[in-house]
Amino acid sequence: MERKKISICWLRRDLRLQDNAALYHALNSGTPVLLVFIFDKNILDQLENKTDRRVAFIYETLIELQSTLYQHKSSLLVLYDTPLKAFKKINSLYEIEAIFVNHDYEPYAIKRDEEIKNLAAEHQIKYYSFKDQVIFEESEVMKPDDTPYTVFTPYSKMWKNKFSENNITFYSSERLLTHLLKSKPLDFPSLKDLGFEDIRSNVPDPNIDENLIAHYSETRNTPAIDGTSHLSVHLRFGTVSIRKLVKTAAEYGDAFLNELIWREFFMTILYHFPHVVNHPFYKKYEHIKWRNNEEEFIKWCKGETGYPLVDAGMRQLNEVGWMHNRIRMVTGSFLTKDLLIDWRWGEAYFAEKLLDYELSSNNGNWQWVAGCGCDSAPYFRVFNPGLQASRFDPDQVYIKKWIKNYKENYLPQIVDHKMARTRALNAYKKAFDSE
Ligand code: FAD
Repeated sequence: MERKKISICWLRRDLRLQDNAALYHALNSGTPVLLVFIFDKNILDQLENKTDRRVAFIYETLIELQSTLYQHKSSLLVLYDTPLKAFKKINSLYEIEAIFVNHDYEPYAIKRDEEIKNLAAEHQIKYYSFKDQVIFEESEVMKPDDTPYTVFTPYSKMWKNKFSENNITFYSSERLLTHLLKSKPLDFPSLKDLGFEDIRSNVPDPNIDENLIAHYSETRNTPAIDGTSHLSVHLRFGTVSIRKLVKTAAEYGDAFLNELIWREFFMTILYHFPHVVNHPFYKKYEHIKWRNNEEEFIKWCKGETGYPLVDAGMRQLNEVGWMHNRIRMVTGSFLTKDLLIDWRWGEAYFAEKLLDYELSSNNGNWQWVAGCGCDSAPYFRVFNPGLQASRFDPDQVYIKKWIKNYKENYLPQIVDHKMARTRALNAYKKAFDSE
């Protein structure tokens, strides 16, 4: 049978039909476009938790996309395989003219894309990749001497200068869906086929709430109220367009926009300094003698430290896969400073639990909290969990929400904060002296 000639738009962390750069270019290519998503065995098979709600979220999003594609008499092709094997399979079914993707910057993704690019070249298939998940990428925001920024404030100033000089280009991909390949419904494995339980993610739809953005600086630090956007999961999987979000943010001053710039700052750091994946940004922090007490670590994970704000945060994380930013800082500081446990342990636990887990942001923020990152809180800044609670949750609304039947002294404190603070400062100082 003759193979149909197609172009492929391979979705990864850009799961939307609106304002999608790769999809827009594919649909303009003149060849009918097949949308493909691959549940990557290399990633999925490593997830031990078979009720992982990130997988459920991706799955629900794909089902929604599929129903829109049906209206255009097209279909998504969803495969469960390694990307290399999946592309070999697609290549045996269709004559692929070109593959369109959006850039992906994490170390694994770069390697994966390189493999597919090579496979495409072997088969004379064109391969195009576009910037989509950020406003500025890789080396687009650099110091005047062309080296990467390692401090946020000057980076953000340069980012804003560049932003004011350039108009945002939006991609009206959603208007071109008639250029999709006409097709009957194609393969669509069930969650069970992927080895996961059939559960719901419970992630609310993305909502770019202008009122929230306008008042963000007043609401962002109060964990008891819904004063942040909850868009992190959507930014992670591309179910919201960063261009649309930044355009709205920029209309309301700096507070919310700065957070989106932090996201790009950490992506740029990871890109230019990939050693941060396993090591502190600054080498001298490599010598800290962590205590790494496993029992204490388990208590921290479960939210049983006896410090209400820390415990409420960890219970929120365990229950819903999200934690308020201020409490991420408090729990992170408690782990690294009060318990003197290696920040990489905390980073790994958050990576497992957070629905919005993003290597660059998680790593950058953990290094920030531990004081060893590129633009960190100074190492001697140790959050006092009691003071943080009275300042940011004075009526204990957040604490009572996440610690059921909360009452004072509900659990003994696993460590005395004052002693632990001194112990942490000594451990950090010793590490610097041993350099
Ligand atoms: P909002 O306050 O509404 O902010 C809007 C967006 O700005 C966020 O969705 C996010 O994309 C970005 N943003 C906000 N704060 C930061 C920040 N400090 N660094 C980078 N980007 C930011 N964020 C993740 O997206 N993934 C992670 O894995 C992650 N791990 C973290 C680990 C620690 C220890 C800490 C302290 C922070 C971490 N953050 C992470 C950053 C931040 O806590 C979350 O982005 C934020 O809480 C998500 O909620 P929101 O969408 O309501 O944020």
